[in-house]
Amino acid sequence: MRSEAVILRARIVVPMEGAPIDDGAVVIQGDRIVAVGARRDLVPLHGEPTLDLGEVALLPGLINAHCHLDYTMMRHAIDPPKSFTAWVQRINALKRSLDNDDYLAAIRRGFRELRKWGTTTVCNIEAFPELMVELGPSPLRTWWFYEMIDVRHRHTTEEVVAGALSFFRRREAGLDRYGLSPHAPFTASVSLYQLANACAARSPMALTTHVAESLEEMQMFRDARGPLYDFMKSLQRPMTDCGRHTPFGLLWRSGAINRDWLLAHMNELRDEDFELLGQHTADELPSVVHCPGSHRYFGHSPFPLRRLLDAGVNVCVGTDSLASTESLSLLEELRSLRDSIAGLSGEQLLRMVTVNPARALQQAGQLGQITPGALADLIAVPTSGTVAAIHEEVVDHSAPISWMMIDGKIVP
Ligand SMILES: [Zn+2]
Repeated sequence: MRSEAVILRARIVVPMEGAPIDDGAVVIQGDRIVAVGARRDLVPLHGEPTLDLGEVALLPGLINAHCHLDYTMMRHAIDPPKSFTAWVQRINALKRSLDNDDYLAAIRRGFRELRKWGTTTVCNIEAFPELMVELGPSPLRTWWFYEMIDVRHRHTTEEVVAGALSFFRRREAGLDRYGLSPHAPFTASVSLYQLANACAARSPMALTTHVAESLEEMQMFRDARGPLYDFMKSLQRPMTDCGRHTPFGLLWRSGAINRDWLLAHMNELRDEDFELLGQHTADELPSVVHCPGSHRYFGHSPFPLRRLLDAGVNVCVGTDSLASTESLSLLEELRSLRDSIAGLSGEQLLRMVTVNPARALQQAGQLGQITPGALADLIAVPTSGTVAAIHEEVVDHSAPISWMMIDGKIVP
């Protein structure tokens, strides 16, 4: 039986694929968008009830391409560190002081915070997948990335993957989707990345990892020295992969990562990395997620956004966790990015939290845009402006998002 359709009317509809529409309307049936256009064109064709949202811009729900909900309670828990390695050691100590109830509370609070700021889809790296049994269905569209680490672990890599697969079988429904996340080249071996690729080949799923986040990671891999090198060596990590390549170069050359991967950070890149990227067409390149607040907190080298865009890389924006940023607001992150890199348009910025992450998750046409056939994940932002300046006006919006729809249902 076909469900009843509804027409949403808004002052401006911002489809992200295609131009903004003044006095626009969107027809929703079930969980899908079936039509979008000017109200005067759509309303006479469809006799359905109209919900007039008033003086708002209606946009696709925002997609947070990198987050750790486990650490939502760690806001201001760690002062900006002198060294990335010191921060890793500090957060590991903090993690040991928390129990399952703390993490469950953190994840639930993180979902509330994401909802407040207009995020309808989140890529969440989950370090404690066993907690998910107790969580119940996610309130937002969530890609749960199983965090995989094989340094200093008694588990063999095969056991880590077996754990991941049993976790996937437990629940796969509603708004929940799954992926794999070898943590970073300094904590996950190339063979662990290759096992993740083998899993994804058998059963398609998203893949993400942290790469080239800090200068200390660059020193460790390229020069076989520095605080992270010394720390990992002290953990008995085999260091034979250090002293030749950059972190990105090591993973890319070995086939550990490919175009299917979403790479968090990529702050520290060298000319040789851009030479590797330059050998490929845009379709052959991985996606990158930049976290502006976390980047500023750590004081990393300037993010090479222009060079990545010139290479054809699909760039997304995420918040990272509250252990290294101030809020889970993606619009706040976009304003932070706009302040640090001149010349970015509002439309360019909004694409980094809509169509770009949708493409990175292999959800182009499904998420991040208001077009027929896409899922009905939408947010409304008050507007008193014009179609021409609407993207800028949305990026400037700093209040909580009062109206949201996910999967065709209004989220309270
Ligand atoms: Zn992260």
